Amino acid sequence: MTQVPEVKLNDGRAIPQLGFGVFKVDPAETERIVTDALEIGYRHIDTARIYGNESGVGRALAASGVPRDELFVTTKLWNDDQGTQSAFDAFDRSLDQLGLDEVDLYLIHWPAPARDRYVDSWRALEAIRESGRARSIGVSNFLVPHLERLLAETSVVPAVDQIELHPAHQQPATVAFAREHGIAIEAWGPLGQGKYPLLELPEVTAAAEAHGKTPAQVVIRWHLQRGNIVFPKSNRRERMAENFDVFDFALDEVEMAAITALEREGRVSAHPDEVE
Ligand code: NAD
Repeated sequence: MTQVPEVKLNDGRAIPQLGFGVFKVDPAETERIVTDALEIGYRHIDTARIYGNESGVGRALAASGVPRDELFVTTKLWNDDQGTQSAFDAFDRSLDQLGLDEVDLYLIHWPAPARDRYVDSWRALEAIRESGRARSIGVSNFLVPHLERLLAETSVVPAVDQIELHPAHQQPATVAFAREHGIAIEAWGPLGQGKYPLLELPEVTAAAEAHGKTPAQVVIRWHLQRGNIVFPKSNRRERMAENFDVFDFALDEVEMAAITALEREGRVSAHPDEVE
């Protein structure tokens, strides 16, 4: 069985550095796809209320027979549910959909600054963590100003910030701020969501050829060696297996530097200040 490295969080807990994400996984297919992922060996699943597939994730987890303490499950508070009571209610609905008594990680999905509710929402997440029903709490798509405000106005430092991050969009300012404050970085869209032609760039394909691996494996390896937590998504079992088979090689310094030099401000999704 592949041993996935763990990243230690600032609350003393640990998270498997490689997991499986289910954004845009059809709710009707989620149980089958997450079952495939668990059979391959993934133990960390990243979902969200807005994905509409928490119940399929929950059914796959329940049917798998994998002991609960070997699983790491993340879900997220959607923008419409930001606030205090609305966050408590949304969290209850997520637990219910997942069929779990607690999640490992609960995140505020977007700062949605025009709503001006992320500080209230964070206080609700602090209370949820206190209750033991979310073992860790964090944020997603928070940039430095959003993180600064949380740190100034609340008491728990987020365990993670889950941001769009891949070689063409590395968000150095957010990453540096997070590292300075002990906030682990989760990289969403680690492969550029297939929108940015990362897997065709010569820096990536040359490293893939040199190691007898695929371009996707090279990019995942780059993330792992940078210390990022990743959960690439695929509906296809052979690609899920490919994306998990990244622990038998390492990129050398020259290969790492060549891929790091691919930074292009190549954001594939909306700017966090614009998502409401
Ligand atoms: P990703 O970078 O993982 O790209 C997924 C796409 O890459 C697949 O649909 C497929 O087309 C392609 N792909 C996957 N494996 C491949 C392989 N081996 N070879 C070639 N192509 C391959 O993008 P993502 O799914 O958006 O991000 C991963 C996870 O991050 C999501 O599933 C979700 O859990 C999370 N996420 C979070 C947010 C957020 O706002 N917090 C936003 C988007 C995604």
